[in-house]
Amino acid sequence: MKNINEMSIPELYQEIRRLESAVNKVNEGKTNSSVAKELAARYMEKISAMYARANGLKRKFREKLGVCPICGEPGKHSVYYDERYCPDCDVWIEDRTGAESEFEGGLPEKPSMAPHLNEA
Ligand SMILES: [Zn+2]
Repeated sequence: MKNINEMSIPELYQEIRRLESAVNKVNEGKTNSSVAKELAARYMEKISAMYARANGLKRKFREKLGVCPICGEPGKHSVYYDERYCPDCDVWIEDRTGAESEFEGGLPEKPSMAPHLNEA
């Protein structure tokens, strides 16, 4: 396996999914074993580190290129929210969710959760 610092965003998410399913398996039955608990804790640590790196990469991507941080496509524009988003990856292209958004009440966390996405 590659070092976390050499992994791309898709590689990070793939590995996160793999580790998360391993953690779930541990938690589903064998949590009384101290070895299993330690293993799960170690995986969780790694998962957090991978999320941190993925978020850092996403930020750079957005700042520099203005494209979807996951697939690299330019995405679509929602007139209602005045935000660009990637319909395939379900992310806003500029991360202005919550307090950072100028949209009243804040943008929904994901485009799929936005009720007025296709309204003008
Ligand atoms: Zn995308």
